[in-house]
Amino acid sequence: MTIVGAGLVGALLATLLAQRGFAVTVYERRPDPRIAGYAGGRSINLALAERGLHGLRLAGMKDVVMKLAVMMRGRMVHHRDGHTELLRYGRDDSEVIWSVSRGRLNIALIDAAERAGARFEFDRRLTGATFGDDVALRFENEAGVAGEAHVPFAIGADGAGSALRAAMNAYTPLGERIEPLGHGYKELEIPAASGASRFAIEPNALHIWPRGNYMCIALPNAEGSFTVTLFLPNEGDPSFATVDSPAAARRLFERDFADALPLIPDLEADFAANPVGMLATLHLDRWHIDGRALLVGDAAHAIGPFHGQGMNCGFEDAVELADLFAAGADDAGAVFAEFERRRRPNAEAIAAMALENYVEMRDSVAEPAFLLRRELGRMLAARNPDRFVPRYSLVTFTRMPYAEAFARGAAQERVLRALTEGRRRIGEIDLAAADARVRAELAPLAS
Ligand code: FAD
Repeated sequence: MTIVGAGLVGALLATLLAQRGFAVTVYERRPDPRIAGYAGGRSINLALAERGLHGLRLAGMKDVVMKLAVMMRGRMVHHRDGHTELLRYGRDDSEVIWSVSRGRLNIALIDAAERAGARFEFDRRLTGATFGDDVALRFENEAGVAGEAHVPFAIGADGAGSALRAAMNAYTPLGERIEPLGHGYKELEIPAASGASRFAIEPNALHIWPRGNYMCIALPNAEGSFTVTLFLPNEGDPSFATVDSPAAARRLFERDFADALPLIPDLEADFAANPVGMLATLHLDRWHIDGRALLVGDAAHAIGPFHGQGMNCGFEDAVELADLFAAGADDAGAVFAEFERRRRPNAEAIAAMALENYVEMRDSVAEPAFLLRRELGRMLAARNPDRFVPRYSLVTFTRMPYAEAFARGAAQERVLRALTEGRRRIGEIDLAAADARVRAELAPLAS
């Protein structure tokens, strides 16, 4: 098994395949992060949820990773007037998400893959591939020295800018469409505090400063700091076109994120040093060519980060692919086709839900009509747990296929909108009639 890319998905896939007895080689562009230090490039930490945890559990990694993780119970909303409110994600602490360091998680996964028998070739950047009787992969190292490998098939886990995808697309068009989100992001830092609690603000929450068309978020790191991400449109005011200097960033924070400003002592330096990350959704009509090459993770379906599901979705890919290979590795073409058939509709669904969640995070969480629907949704879920589960919970705390969660969420939203139309307070809603409507319109969920 040849994998290109030892990022989060490539390293988990290598572990799962090696644990199932396959001989695995992984080619990675970067030097070994355990020796050279982790060169991440984007989002210092990420939110891990049930789908990702499931993959880590199967790889025997859950306990290792949990030691690196900080629990997040809900969204801590920072309103303009400075007051904060915690909107819980789930029913209780059994339904939470976890903030983990990308670098530590990646290194733990590379270690696990090696322990399982996978072989890593670092400092090997894929520069091209040709698809003949076998697959010829061409590499270059940092010193510019070229090399080649001939393999029966290759799996591309080389991220959103996948070089394997480019080579496949040149060989046979994959129907690639890149949909820019029109928004970018910049990372800043709230350093660890010196007091008894190492955290300057509530550690067990994902902090959000929703401001309409833009927002800031902050996720905790185990040693006490928070990684802050400022999301802004690329054009308009404010945008990365107008907030284009450290001084402009300070003015934006003074006006819109006043309670965050004193927590970010190096705002200007962070703003100057860190690049603006671009965001886009990648759609492909095909993820594979015959039995010769397959794309997984961001290489196949990069999505917006607003549901915190890109890695979680990629980990589901890794589990699905390892299971399919374990069931019948002889026919790679059949495995790849079945993998695409099962996963592509789900990747499309989470891409759409991630975009919807951006609007929810930056805007709706501060809107009364949204908060009323949310409150009613939680009441209906408590009263009808077999029929009504908020979509966020289906995506985050279950492994229901994303496409099903998407459809179910739409049906539930229709019920909520009908029940709250023209209402301002929960007391104005007849809950018995609401229950009857839920029973009439929403079939019971499988357990
Ligand atoms: P990557 O992590 O990009 O790894 C690709 C690997 O391939 C890298 O190691 C790279 O060096 C290597 N590579 C690249 N090109 C070559 C080449 N030519 N030759 C050899 N090797 C190569 N997801 C979540 O689940 N939760 C979150 O909270 C979350 N937050 C995010 C926040 C931001 C700002 C962003 C941008 C993304 C976020 N994501 C989140 C998404 C998540 O980062 C990705 O879905 C995940 O990293 C995908 O993993 P991957 O292994 O497919 O790709």
